[in-house]
Order: sequence, then C-alpha cells, then structure tokens
Amino acid sequence: MSIHQPHQNTIGTALDLVGSLINHSCDPNAFIFFEQSQLRVRSLRPITAGEEIAQTYVDSRLGVMMRQKILKSDYFFTCECEYRTDFSFTWLSKEKFLGGSRCQEELRDCQAWASKENISVHVFADTENEILQCLNRVIKDRNTSGTRKALEQIEADFSLLTTRVFPKQDWPDTLWPMNDVKLLLAKLYKDNENHQQAVIYALKGCLGFTRRSGPEWDDTLFELLQFIALLVIPERKGISAKPSSFPGDQQLWDFFHGLLHQLLLQSEKTFGLDTAYTKAIITWHANAERSAGRPLPGETGFSKRFDKAQSVILSWAEIDMSRKIVLTG
Ligand SMILES: [Zn+2]
Repeated sequence: MSIHQPHQNTIGTALDLVGSLINHSCDPNAFIFFEQSQLRVRSLRPITAGEEIAQTYVDSRLGVMMRQKILKSDYFFTCECEYRTDFSFTWLSKEKFLGGSRCQEELRDCQAWASKENISVHVFADTENEILQCLNRVIKDRNTSGTRKALEQIEADFSLLTTRVFPKQDWPDTLWPMNDVKLLLAKLYKDNENHQQAVIYALKGCLGFTRRSGPEWDDTLFELLQFIALLVIPERKGISAKPSSFPGDQQLWDFFHGLLHQLLLQSEKTFGLDTAYTKAIITWHANAERSAGRPLPGETGFSKRFDKAQSVILSWAEIDMSRKIVLTG
C-alpha cells in the first residue's frame, strides 16, 4: 500500500499484513493514512456491526471508467461494486438498490452522456484517458525546467480533446477529469501571476467535485484556500483590471474565513485532533481568526454573510449556485 500523510503525496510503499486485509470499494466506509510511522484506519461514516470495512485502492476522485481500468491493470481484479447483489440488499426496492452503488450510478451517467452525444462509451473512455495523459505531460513539464508550452496552446490542446465527446457544449466541470483540468490550469495561471484567472479556474475545479467528504474533500478545500488567499493578500499582485463583478474585500475575507473554518471541521472529523496536519490547521485557523471581524465563523449571523459573499464570488466566476459550499458548523 502507498504511504501518505494527510495532504501529502505518496512518499513510498509499505507491506502491512493487517492493512492488506482491508478490501476495496469505490464507495468506502474507511480510509488509511500514515501519522509518522503509524498506520491509521479511520471510518468515513458509521459502520454497523458485521459490516465489512472497505477502503479505496485508487484515488476516489477519478471517474468510474478510469477507476475500473486501474483496478484491472494494477490490482488484477474487476471492480465489482457494479455487480454487488449482496443478499442483504434484497429487501431494498429496485430503485433504492440501483441508487446504492456508486459505480453503477456513475456508469449509467457515462452511458447517458455518450448516447446523448451520439458516441460510443469506448470513445468516451479513450478520450478520458488521453486527457489524463495530456494532464500528466503538462504536470511533468511544469515540474521540470524544460521548455514549456504557452498556456493558450495547452488550453487549445485540452479543448481539442474535449470536443470529441462534447462537440456542442463544454465538458461539464462536475464530470471527471474536467475538475482536474481546471485545477491544473489554475496552477498554470498562478505561475503566470494572473491571479484572477487562476482563482476562477480553481473555483470551477474545486466546486466540480461532487463527493464532498473524506480526505479528498479535505484536500480540495485546502487547495481552494491557497487560491483564495491570493486575492486577500494586500498587494493584490496579478489583479490589474478588475471587472465590475469583482467581489469586494470584505466578501473575499468572509469567504476565506468560512472556508478555513470548514476545513478545520473537516480535518478534525476526517483525521482526528491528534494528527500533525490537524494541529497545523488549528494554528492557521486561530491566527487567521485574529484578523477577522465579528460574527466569526460558527457564530450566529456568519453563515448569512458567507452565503452572500459566496454568491457574489460564484457569479463573478460564472459558476452555478447549485455547486456552492455549505457550511456545516
Ligand atoms: Zn467500483
């Protein structure tokens, strides 16, 4: 299994006999992470007595067809989430059962998009694959000091691929891998010091994630905060001509503080209070709150201010409010 600490890339692999007893599910009820040299297993939702504990072997943010491909090539099994006709489910109505499996639901979604666009689902899967390869190439170029392609060229390369599946409309941000593409573009615009465009892409990418729980969502909130921080720093580098729809200072701060508070709650719940990562978030949150005006996040009246700020920011970034972040505390 891969060794990674909260919000860290994989730093190695380990062989752990107990850890390896935990099977795969695309809709897991637990996850594994490392705290120093300790392997920890935490639940992602209440687990009933006798229920199998399952983790995901692949990044659960990937699309269903890519997850299946990787499970087959790297772990040598066919993902059976789709076919799981466990007898304990037989008492459920058919609709409820069909809604119960993540893979089944997502495969149906892919098939529906493919038939709507009049292509085969294989073309869809191949295109996803090519977009992923293109993503990896750009990431590699970014990490090495070789000659880089111009940003316009990178955007053109992606759109050439996406039009194969969606000739008449944009590939939805909520449909993998577009959220990853948008996040990568955000980083590239940040490199070019175009912070306004970077934040717009970061918002589109992060809010494109529909599964908002567990370590992946924690990562996403963390990532988004790094971008919003670009707009609240005093000198506002990279923001030259502000359009009239550009959010005000107070709105940006309200959004920032609300997101940070949400990240704190998410990290405490996901990783526990005693991890180095959560402790770092607690410190960040405490320092940031010193400069915040009342009501503070979590106090009466804050969520209203957050919602107002978020609606201005989303409308500036041309993102539908249905994708907004809901504060849980
Ligand atoms: Zn699956």
